[in-house]
Amino acid sequence: MSKQSTTRQICQICQKEKKEGIVIYQAFICSECEQEMIMTEPEDERYQYFVKKLKAINQTTQYS
Ligand SMILES: [Zn+2]
Repeated sequence: MSKQSTTRQICQICQKEKKEGIVIYQAFICSECEQEMIMTEPEDERYQYFVKKLKAINQTTQYS
């Protein structure tokens, strides 16, 4: 799905510093939040929350 990250980064969902996770839309998501996303149904409000977060990150993050 996406490449693994090995360095410590701030998870864009829970805002905690985590070592393991993936990068989606240039945003780091920790393994725990990734699992939560996977187990959440698209109809679920929680899922929409994740999608919104990711879209917001994608729009505001700029890499030089
Ligand atoms: Zn997280």
